[in-house]
Amino acid sequence: MSNTPNSGAERANTLGRKVVDVSSFLVFFVLLAILSVYLFEAYAERTPAQRIAWPLVALPIALLISDLLSGIVHFLADNYGSEGTPFVGKRFCKPFRDHHVDPKGITRRGFIEANANTCILSLLPLAIVVWLGPYETGPAAFGATLGALILITVIMTNQFHKWAHVDHPPRPVAALQRWGVILTKDNHDLHHIAPYDTYYCITTGWLNPLFDRLGVLKVEASAAREKTEAQSQSRE
Ligand SMILES: [Zn+2]
Ligand SMILES: [Zn+2]
Repeated sequence: MSNTPNSGAERANTLGRKVVDVSSFLVFFVLLAILSVYLFEAYAERTPAQRIAWPLVALPIALLISDLLSGIVHFLADNYGSEGTPFVGKRFCKPFRDHHVDPKGITRRGFIEANANTCILSLLPLAIVVWLGPYETGPAAFGATLGALILITVIMTNQFHKWAHVDHPPRPVAALQRWGVILTKDNHDLHHIAPYDTYYCITTGWLNPLFDRLGVLKVEASAAREKTEAQSQSRE
């Protein structure tokens, strides 16, 4: 089936979606710029050691939290609701479900189209982090650093996911994958085995082996899918 919009309504929908996607990124970058000014001011008050250590400590924590969040959102989108679910169906359920059928489809999307959904999800938390600023105490500055890095890595999650599907990612990206800093193809391939009921984390994939062993975001997924299949059979 072609993805080309073939009616006036579909073209209007596609255009509306693009306007929302681009606007989300514009708002995100404005908010991030304000937060950057707050952080710049906060770091001017810190010692040289803190300026280096805090981002280095906060980054792995941020990646871990983003990995967890990506697993929860992906798990919910794969197993609950449908394309027709109000508000989230077309935006979140459909792309994840389509992705199982056409895994390479994600590699044909541009940066904004591939990452708009995580950007939209990040806007409210980012607005709250900005609203709480400026950050004058040390703990507040560290918290803001962590918050900013979580939101940036959340935004980059689907980009990391996309790169895990690209045959020849850019060299720096391939290095990050080799070092295990971002999601690797081998890790993510384990999600793309039917019935797609494990390895949902797609930022770094660090939590996937642990969750798989513990049955977290796994057993429930199978139960949910059986329920969905039973519902669709009863409708036929
Ligand atoms: Zn999936
Ligand atoms: Zn994938």
